[in-house]
Amino acid sequence: MPKLLPQISLPYVTVEGGGLFPVRRIYCVGRNYADHAREMGSDPDREPPFFFSKPADAAIQGHHVPYPPMTSDLHHEVELVLALASGGRDLTPEAADKAIFGYAVGVDLTRRDLQAEAKEKGRPWDLAKGFDNSAPLGRILPRERVEIGNATRIQLAVDGVTKQSGTLGQMSWAPAEIVSRLSAYVELKAGDLIFTGTPSGVGPLERDQHVVAEIDGLPRVMFTLE
Ligand code: MN
Repeated sequence: MPKLLPQISLPYVTVEGGGLFPVRRIYCVGRNYADHAREMGSDPDREPPFFFSKPADAAIQGHHVPYPPMTSDLHHEVELVLALASGGRDLTPEAADKAIFGYAVGVDLTRRDLQAEAKEKGRPWDLAKGFDNSAPLGRILPRERVEIGNATRIQLAVDGVTKQSGTLGQMSWAPAEIVSRLSAYVELKAGDLIFTGTPSGVGPLERDQHVVAEIDGLPRVMFTLE
């Protein structure tokens, strides 16, 4: 194989128990928990999920996350992340479910001030959502090693104070439905990560604050903003 010119490193996420998961694309669902839809001022009815994306190298692991430039209102959103081992187009929910390799905890970091401006002016969300280091992730746990269900708790604490707390049963669209819907828009492939939305309680983060994001049974995410 010819060598890459220039030499670049490809993004990956570690897998619990060994191995690296190469990240191809990152998709995210907007508003998948009714109580978060309400806190953002929209109708919590079960409308079809909508999607946005982040660059693959927004995925980061580690205990330090740089506070991004061009914002004074960085928000946390704790989310269940699906890691795909295969893909396809127009997948049924059953086929979509089989494409899921494992799960991780992720934080959809958001420059809320830029997002609010984009919403108001009808502009793209890209730089509100898809900036450098905007997708802190925990290790991926292969699905056969975890049981997740409606009662599974999802939460996030800032400096030891719980800010977000919910259950996966509060999601309007279940993982297989999300993957199925997304595959109607784009062909999905191995290496894709899908953030599945956040429960209520999103809020601002400041420099030096410590974030712990957890979903029962999955490796947690812990980082300090710098
Ligand atoms: Mn989100």
